[in-house]
Amino acid sequence: MEKNIAVIRGDGIGPEVVGQALRVLDKICEKYGHTFHYTDLLMGGCSIDAHGVPLTDEALEAAKASDAVLLGSVGGPKWDTLPGNIRPEKGLLAIRKGLGLFANLRPALLYKELGEACPLRADIIGDGFDMLIMRELTGGLYFGAHETGEQDGLRKATDIMTYDENEIRRIAVRAFDVARKRRGKVTSVDKANVLDCSKLWRAVVHEVAEEYPDVQLEDMLVDNCAMQLVKDPKQFDVILTENMFGDILSDEASMVTGSIGMLASASLGETKLGMYEPSGGSAPDIAGQNKANPIATILSASMLLRYSFDLDAEADDIDAAVQRVLQRGYRTGDIMSEGCTLVSCSEMGDHILEEL
Ligand code: NAD
Repeated sequence: MEKNIAVIRGDGIGPEVVGQALRVLDKICEKYGHTFHYTDLLMGGCSIDAHGVPLTDEALEAAKASDAVLLGSVGGPKWDTLPGNIRPEKGLLAIRKGLGLFANLRPALLYKELGEACPLRADIIGDGFDMLIMRELTGGLYFGAHETGEQDGLRKATDIMTYDENEIRRIAVRAFDVARKRRGKVTSVDKANVLDCSKLWRAVVHEVAEEYPDVQLEDMLVDNCAMQLVKDPKQFDVILTENMFGDILSDEASMVTGSIGMLASASLGETKLGMYEPSGGSAPDIAGQNKANPIATILSASMLLRYSFDLDAEADDIDAAVQRVLQRGYRTGDIMSEGCTLVSCSEMGDHILEEL
């Protein structure tokens, strides 16, 4: 297979962790006979330094012309005092919008080997858990009208939540497609006992489910889901939910896995072109020291192969290599525990390559 990948190393630890992910992708090419062409693009602080804006039109066009985008992270103290419209994060919003990415996927995966980092009891963790939160990214309350005013002498604020059936259907289709590549279960989370948006959400998700008889669908109210995530996280495979609920639940789910350095993420749109990035930020406190954990970015590259290129066997190969390295006791500083071997960012890359 021959594919073009736009590579945005970004700021802080971005170039270090993306460097290791590219070594892993190169190894996959060698092993399975694929060719990936990389195009380096600037975004975030490095783009502000070079071009005065966090994302140039040329960089966005190049990203659009690629088959997938691999991103490190953007931002850092150097750019914190710039006015809002030229902050590094604006680049992220612009590229998500430009690529039409409406579904955010965040796996929350706890390896048995990292059980100590999990705040839940050992009997709840068992052999670890593996779920994926799929959050709608461009609709709902955050994108409705917001208004603050006064009524009858009282200050009053209003935020409007809206969803139309197309917005719900397109992400539901993505969730069922993703569930097919996993354990075949979708938990659709809503508040259908109160909200009209949720009633429509539930109705449309059930219509989509009819096209996927091989995938199990269950509905869950958001308050119950918040409880179940800490009571019995093993029950979940794909959690499908709207923007605000997903914002909150994905942070809860990532917290129960322990380390931010382990969490991959993907954003998908209507086509196969997706953007893949670690959930964490640019970690300025450890940038340039070869200390960052590259696993979140390496697992993001694995998601890229799975969801943009349909290379499931290659993605499984990377995931298994990461697990074996953890089993052998190699840890970067953020996931270090007693009796394990402390390794640098590039040494972690070496060990994963060796396993491949
Ligand atoms: P952060 O995620 O960068 O760091 C929080 C803590 O987690 C730090 O102690 C850091 O060392 C640690 N950490 C993060 N990733 C790690 C890794 N791979 N390995 C080991 N440790 C890791 O969050 P922050 O400090 O709030 O933000 C720093 C900068 O990153 C800010 O400029 C922020 O705007 C930006 N940011 C960018 C993104 C993105 O690019 N998508 C996301 C969040 C924050």
